[in-house]
Amino acid sequence: MCASKRYTITAALPYANGPLHIGHLAGAYIGADIYARYLRLRGKDIVFVCGSDEHGAAITIKAIKEGVTPREIVDKFHTIIRDSFQQFGISFDIYHRTSEPIHYETSQEFFRILNDKNAFDIRESEQYYDEEAHQFLADRYIVGTCPKCSNENAYGDQCEKCGSTLSPTELIHPRSTISGGTPILRKTKHWYLKLDEYQEYIQKWIESKKSTWKSHVYGQCMSWIDAGLQPRAMTRDLNWGIPVPPEIDGAEGKVLYVWLDAPIGYVSATRQLFKEIEENDFHFAQPKSEQLLGRSKDDWEKYWQSDDTTLVHFIGKDNIVFHCITFPAILKATEKYILPDNVPANEFMNLQGDKISTSRNWAVWLHEYLEEFPGKQDELRYTLIANMPENKDSEFTWQDYQSRVNNELVANLGNFVNRVVVLVHKYYNGIVPQVETASFSTYDNQVLDSINSYADKISAAIESFKFRDALMALNELSSVGNKYLADLEPWKLIKNDPKATEKVLFIATQLCGSLAVLAQPLLPFTVDKLNRIFGVHKGQWLTSDKVLVPSGYQLGQSELLFEKIDDAIVNYQIEKLEKSKSQSQSNDIAYVQVKNEISFDDFSKLDIRTGTIVEAEKVLKADKLLKLTVDLGFETRTIVSGIAEYFSTEEVIGKRVSVLVNLAPRKLKGIESNGMILMAEDNEGKLSFVQSEAPNGMVIR
Ligand SMILES: [Zn+2]
Repeated sequence: MCASKRYTITAALPYANGPLHIGHLAGAYIGADIYARYLRLRGKDIVFVCGSDEHGAAITIKAIKEGVTPREIVDKFHTIIRDSFQQFGISFDIYHRTSEPIHYETSQEFFRILNDKNAFDIRESEQYYDEEAHQFLADRYIVGTCPKCSNENAYGDQCEKCGSTLSPTELIHPRSTISGGTPILRKTKHWYLKLDEYQEYIQKWIESKKSTWKSHVYGQCMSWIDAGLQPRAMTRDLNWGIPVPPEIDGAEGKVLYVWLDAPIGYVSATRQLFKEIEENDFHFAQPKSEQLLGRSKDDWEKYWQSDDTTLVHFIGKDNIVFHCITFPAILKATEKYILPDNVPANEFMNLQGDKISTSRNWAVWLHEYLEEFPGKQDELRYTLIANMPENKDSEFTWQDYQSRVNNELVANLGNFVNRVVVLVHKYYNGIVPQVETASFSTYDNQVLDSINSYADKISAAIESFKFRDALMALNELSSVGNKYLADLEPWKLIKNDPKATEKVLFIATQLCGSLAVLAQPLLPFTVDKLNRIFGVHKGQWLTSDKVLVPSGYQLGQSELLFEKIDDAIVNYQIEKLEKSKSQSQSNDIAYVQVKNEISFDDFSKLDIRTGTIVEAEKVLKADKLLKLTVDLGFETRTIVSGIAEYFSTEEVIGKRVSVLVNLAPRKLKGIESNGMILMAEDNEGKLSFVQSEAPNGMVIR
C-alpha cells in the first residue's frame, strides 16, 4: 500500500452537451469509484472530485441549432449527468460545475500565474471571421470540404469521416456554421503555451513513470514527445467561456480555451468542497468520509500543492495528451502545484460490434438504463468492470450482460450466499452456530485462509488499477465457497453428523461475511443487501484477527441478490438500439451544398418538359446506359441515360419523367442522345424519377 499522506482522485469532467453512456462509465468513472471507495475503506485521507465541463464551442453550436441559450443546454445536461451518477452510486465527494464563480476565479488565477511566469507567447495570426455574425470562427464554428477525403462537412478542427486532425485554413470552401456564409481571414491575437520549452522536463518526468504507468498511456505520451511539443493556443475568440483576466493587455473578447479551463475544474471543485465543509452548507458537495468533516476552506491547498499528496487522474484514452503533457506542463509552470502520480487511462468500449456514437445514437444511455432496470446498478457495474477496456478496446453486448448476470452473478455469488442463508435458517433458525476451532480440518482451515489471501489479491489488483482482476478474485472466493458446500454437502451431512454440519455452515457464513466486506469497492448496492443479512460492519476493510459473523448472530432474512435476465429483455434492448440508429440516420442526412447563385435569365434558358418513357433497351457494351424513347407530346425523342445500374428496361417503360429538352445533342456509345432525363439522388446514391401529373410536353418552370 502506498504510504502517501493523502490522495486527490479526479475523474474526467463530462461534457455537458449530452447524457452519459456506458462508454463513459467504463472509461473513467467506475475505475475511479472503485479506487476511491477502496482507499476510504483503508482509512486513507482522500478527496474524489468531478463536475460538468460547461464551456467550449460544441455547447454554443448545439444551442444555436436548438434555438436555446448555452445556459439552457448546460443546465439541462448537468442535471441529467449529476442525477445519473448519483443513482448509479459513483461516490464523488463533490460534483461541481465549471460555470460556477469559484471556477472562474480559479481559472483566471491560473492564467495570471502563467502570464506572470512568462509561460505564454502572444502571437498574431490570421483566422477565419464571419462578417455577418461579427465573430471569429474557432474549431466547430467552421465547416468545409476535407482536403484528405473530400467530405463536404468536415469541421475546422477535425474531419469526422476520415478522422484527420485539421486546422480551419486547410478546409476547401470553408463556410461559417453560424451564417452559412464564406468567412474572411482577419488578424487576431492569442496566448500560446510554450510547450516546446517544457519538452525536456516533461520527457524526463514521463520516463520516470515507465514502470508504473500503463504501457499504452506511456506509449502515447512518448510518441507525442518524440514528434516534438509545439506551442498551443490557450485562448479563443468566443463569447461563451472564462474571460481572459481583464487587466491583461488585449484581453477583450478572449476566453480561455475549454481544454485549459476543464482540468482546472478539478482544482476549483476541491476548493468548493472545502468551502462547503467549512460553512457546513452543502450545494455540490456530499463528503463521503467522516475525515473530511470539520476541515477548513484553506485545506484544499494540501490536496494540490503538498508533496505528500498523491494525485491520480482517471480518464478515457481520448484525454491522455492533455492530462499527461499539457496539464502537467501548466501545473509545473505555476511552480506551486503537484503533478499526477498516475493517469490510468482506459481504452474505448464498443457496443454490439460497432463504435459507440452519440450522433448515430449507438449507445446505452445511463439514465435510460436506470429507468428500465431499477435496482440493477450492480448488474451493469459488474458487466462493465468485467469488460473494462483497461489495456485494449473492449465490447459491451446485451448477450454478454445477460450471460454475466445469469452465469456469474446469479449462479456463483448469488447462489452461494442464498444456499448458506437458507440452510442456516432451516437448521438453526438463522442463528450462526457455535464451533470449536480445534475441530477444523485442513480443508476447513484452507477455506478460511483463502479469505485473507483473496483479500490480498483484491487489494493488490485495485492498488495497481487492475479492476477486472479484482472482480475475478472476488468471484473466485465465491467459487471457493460453492465448492466447499458441494464437497461437504451439509444437506446430507445434517442426517448423520450434526456437529460437523454446524462447522461447515459456520465457515460458509464467514465466507459470506468476507464477500460482504470485499465487495464494497466493486458492488456497493449488493453490499447493502449482504449487510442486511450478515450485519458485517460497513465501511471497514478486512482485518485478519476478527471473526466476521460471530456465533450466536441472528442472520437477516434471505433475499435474492440477483435475478436472471430473460431473453425477451435482451432482444428488446437490441431492437431498441437498431431502431434508434436507423432513426438517427434518417434525421441526419448530409445535404449537398447549394451551388453558386444564378440569375433568372440563366434559369429561363433551361427548357424542361414533362414526358413518358415508351421504349427502353440496353446499350451494348455499356453497363450503365439505357437507350430510351421518350414521348414529349409534340415529338418522340431518343435519350441515352446512365440509369441501367438502378433500373431494368421493364421497370422504366411507362414512367412519367421530366426532360431537359434543349441540351445540346451528344453521342454516347455511337447513339445520339437528345436531351436529359432529370433524376433525384439520395445520400446512398439511389435514383428516382422527377414526376409530374401534367400531360406530356408541358413546360416545367
Ligand atoms: Zn476527411
